[in-house]
Amino acid sequence: MHEAPLQFAGARPAPASAAAPGRLERFGLWLRDHQREVRALQWAMVALYLPLLILPVLLPLPDATARIWSNLTLFAQFLFWGIWWPGVLVSVLLFGRLWCGLLCPEGALSAAASRRGKGRAIPRWMKWPGWSFALFAGVTIYGQMISIYDDPRAALLILGLSSGSAVLVGWLYGREKRVWCRFLCPVNGVFGLLAKLAPMHYRVDARAWDACPPSRAREMRFNCEPMVPVRTMDSASPCHMCGRCAGFRDAVRLEPRAPGSEVLRSAGSGADSLMVIAGLIGLGSAAFWWETAPWLGPLSRALGAAVEAPWALFGRGMTLGEGAALLLTFGLIALSLSAAVALSLALAARLDGRSGMFHRLALALLPLSAAGLIVGLSQQTVARLAASGLPLDTRWVWTVLLLLGAGWSLRLAAAMVRRRPALGAVVPAIGVPLAVWAAVIWA
Ligand code: SF4
Repeated sequence: MHEAPLQFAGARPAPASAAAPGRLERFGLWLRDHQREVRALQWAMVALYLPLLILPVLLPLPDATARIWSNLTLFAQFLFWGIWWPGVLVSVLLFGRLWCGLLCPEGALSAAASRRGKGRAIPRWMKWPGWSFALFAGVTIYGQMISIYDDPRAALLILGLSSGSAVLVGWLYGREKRVWCRFLCPVNGVFGLLAKLAPMHYRVDARAWDACPPSRAREMRFNCEPMVPVRTMDSASPCHMCGRCAGFRDAVRLEPRAPGSEVLRSAGSGADSLMVIAGLIGLGSAAFWWETAPWLGPLSRALGAAVEAPWALFGRGMTLGEGAALLLTFGLIALSLSAAVALSLALAARLDGRSGMFHRLALALLPLSAAGLIVGLSQQTVARLAASGLPLDTRWVWTVLLLLGAGWSLRLAAAMVRRRPALGAVVPAIGVPLAVWAAVIWA
């Protein structure tokens, strides 16, 4: 971690025991005391997740007259891609990684396997910090290649592989720990970054922690499944918000905080900047907008005759030319947007004159990135409703959301830089993705 020392807006210096617990703090304590109910909730999510993933593969493909409310496959896809995924993303922005700790079926399966597994030591290769970006990029690109949103077999292949690996890793490594979630989950990096914007977190009072008598601490043991070093935890990024450590040593409490306050005091890192610029903005934009590229058709025809590509390579009914055009378009959007943003931030950092500003400014783009992801994912919701005869014109809603994200990013950047020209150089890093997304929405 590269964050500055703990310094929260509104932080109370007194030990946690000195004040009556607020509503949020009580919720954290309630979670701690109701882990049995939390586990039941997690199994309920597993029971929902598996049929949503498997049933559409077993059922016949929907015909042109099928609708969300009359066809189980379409209903499952709508629920999964149109409600579930956008909902998860919004929940991370609002509540931190509560989804991971309380509801994620993959995490629950991995943790359950770890409780009964071999408990081996975690291998060094697994701790490579580049996994977050590499796996996110791999899943994003391959998911588009085999049409993960539309082909139930593609969804089963990718999510099934992910869930199967989560169980295997849980069974092999770590005892009662979420080794998969901590090191290999493809959305770990994304969720960790978005959680920095959340208006709540578990705050640790290190003085109260140290002041707690060892005898009392021994009575209050807990197991942090994602292996967070709780005493020194100064970021919501790794915390799954499970509540197990709430009240520990009278030093840990769930508290509100100013949205984005963690971003302002974070130093950022190369891995964070890579994920924001190349992952959320570059690959994220490419995943949602590549199909709208005006050159896609001519490029497909120019690149190859109607030779059908293998399903495992380019999914249902795609020719090799179409597949190659997809990859080229995808790469072009991702690289050009990432390069424009990175150059703009590099110039801003140089104009500001302080070391580390590039990584800090990259974090300032999180609100805009989050807005782009929500707009992109909600495209699925709108498209599926429209295909069932329920068209919704959400262009203004999307535009306002993107503008709000851009405004928030600009405010964060303005609070970080000390020279006006540096802020001017940040404007293209916000304006270029915004202009591209707005053009796609309105054109
Ligand atoms: S630090 Fe660990 S135990 Fe505490 S709430 Fe976060 S995930 Fe749970």
